[in-house]
Amino acid sequence: MTNIVEPGNQHETDVVIIGAGPCGLFQVFELGLLDMKAHLIDNLDKIGGQCAELYPDKNLYDIPSRPAITGQELTDDLIKQADPFEPTYHLNQLTSKIDVQEDHIQVTTNLDTVIKCKSLVIAAVPENFLFLMWKILKIKIFFILLKKEQTLKEKKFSSRAVATPL
Ligand SMILES: Cc1cc2nc3c(=O)[nH]c(=O)nc-3n(C[C@H](O)[C@H](O)[C@H](O)COP(=O)(O)OP(=O)(O)OC[C@H]3O[C@@H](n4cnc5c(N)ncnc54)[C@H](O)[C@@H]3O)c2cc1C
Repeated sequence: MTNIVEPGNQHETDVVIIGAGPCGLFQVFELGLLDMKAHLIDNLDKIGGQCAELYPDKNLYDIPSRPAITGQELTDDLIKQADPFEPTYHLNQLTSKIDVQEDHIQVTTNLDTVIKCKSLVIAAVPENFLFLMWKILKIKIFFILLKKEQTLKEKKFSSRAVATPL
């Protein structure tokens, strides 16, 4: 039985997984093999990430051992595979705060669900993460161009220095 709980309560678990898409769901299975219990948080109102939200009826042809499987069938199978490890799902909630303490991590959602855990798995690529990556990339490009300009200037300067005595 899939355990979807109401928002706004306090919980304690081994691992919090942000994102209940295919990667988050399979994490439950892998962690379960290590005897670790997991709580999953997802912004969507359903389990399954992109597969369930964007293309539940579309066939996938690149899943090992499955010649064809729809997005929803894959989701249902992943939920079934995770179920024996009794995951707890917090849906319709955005992770809003991650507070890393010395002996635990506290994850809070925008609906005031608070989960204390030992480890955190981020199985999601939030938009602001992509934005941050883009910013880092832009800064890197700036420094590469700056370095190139400096090298060019140095080259010009040294050739002039060589040219002067002549
Ligand atoms: C139209 C389409 C067709 C595709 N077809 C294929 C295919 O044929 N074969 C294939 O292998 N792949 C396909 N893909 C890609 C595949 O769907 C993704 O690679 C896969 O869904 C990634 O799984 P995931 O668990 O990493 O992330 P996702 O499925 O994106 O799940 C991440 C979850 O995290 C949640 N989340 C994000 N940020 C937060 C937050 N701050 N708090 C709470 N929750 C959050 C999101 O709501 C989401 O549900 C397709 C994708 C699309 C869009």
